[in-house]
Amino acid sequence: MAHLTFTLRSIVATLLAGASLAATAQDKVLNLYSARHYQTDEALYANFTKATGIKINRIDADDAGVITRLKAEGAASPADVILLVDAARLTKAEAEGMFQPLNSPVLLQRIPAHLRDNTSGGPQWFGFSTRARLIVYNKATVQRADVDSYQKLADPKNKGKVCTRSGSHPYNLTLVGAMLQHLGAPATEAWLKGVVDNMARAPKGGDTDQIKAAATGECQIALTNSYYLARLMRSTKPEDVETMSKIGFVFPNQDSWGTHINISGGAMAKHAKNPAEAQKFLEYLASDEAQVYFADGNNEWPAVAGIKVKNPALEAMGTFKVDALPIAQAGANQTQVQQMLDRVGFK
Ligand code: FE
Repeated sequence: MAHLTFTLRSIVATLLAGASLAATAQDKVLNLYSARHYQTDEALYANFTKATGIKINRIDADDAGVITRLKAEGAASPADVILLVDAARLTKAEAEGMFQPLNSPVLLQRIPAHLRDNTSGGPQWFGFSTRARLIVYNKATVQRADVDSYQKLADPKNKGKVCTRSGSHPYNLTLVGAMLQHLGAPATEAWLKGVVDNMARAPKGGDTDQIKAAATGECQIALTNSYYLARLMRSTKPEDVETMSKIGFVFPNQDSWGTHINISGGAMAKHAKNPAEAQKFLEYLASDEAQVYFADGNNEWPAVAGIKVKNPALEAMGTFKVDALPIAQAGANQTQVQQMLDRVGFK
């Protein structure tokens, strides 16, 4: 009996040891909090796991949801990597202490300086894809030359023609943050006032709604991120084809500082429990293979220079002069920008 008990104990002990070994082998995991949800991201994550053996546990939410969750979890958060959209959100999350510096020679070499965080203690976040903030216009009623710069959105000749989403939306906060760098505060606020004076209606809806409104004549000039336009360009739905037949677009400020671009980006979480895996994943996102998936999934351009994406809408848009202003600087201006928006009544 004693002997049997001993044997059972040995078996149980052996099983437990085996189980804990198995757990160690499976220990290579990465907890990813992502505000990006595209089909191609699935292939991206699968390829990373295949190449590294690191399993990705993904928590999907929108940007606000990711931030809320991180705040609620605090130091106990299992998040290792955080993916957010827009420099305004990334700079805000950084300011709220959600990231940590990541001195990766790979990322410093691959990601251009103007597309990453510029905190003196080392960058905390990196852009992995870019989108441009374009001006679209109704071809029947607006001359291209009247909308070829952001400044012209405030030109009195465009009175009653402009529609936009909320001024407080991160896409607009970052754009205005860039304008602030280029024009200075007084000129930027005067410009914003002019844009408000030119509005066809109060700000509402998303960028796609603005493109559609410009097509139907509810307004005639609008701002949009390039990927929303690309989506409509690639759509075969009759109503989208109809919309696109009425719309022209410009890359603003080609004769001056270039078109404003923004990013999708990522960072290592402040309380990452798997920092080595997190770094490996962020470095993987800068690889040639991942850059194509990451950008193409949302009709964006890769952040890493020299990488080509085969995307018919991006090819149709062509190349353009990019505003080389550090995107971190534009994002960091958001508090000042919000105060200006409030003063001029740009809701
Ligand atoms: Fe968007």
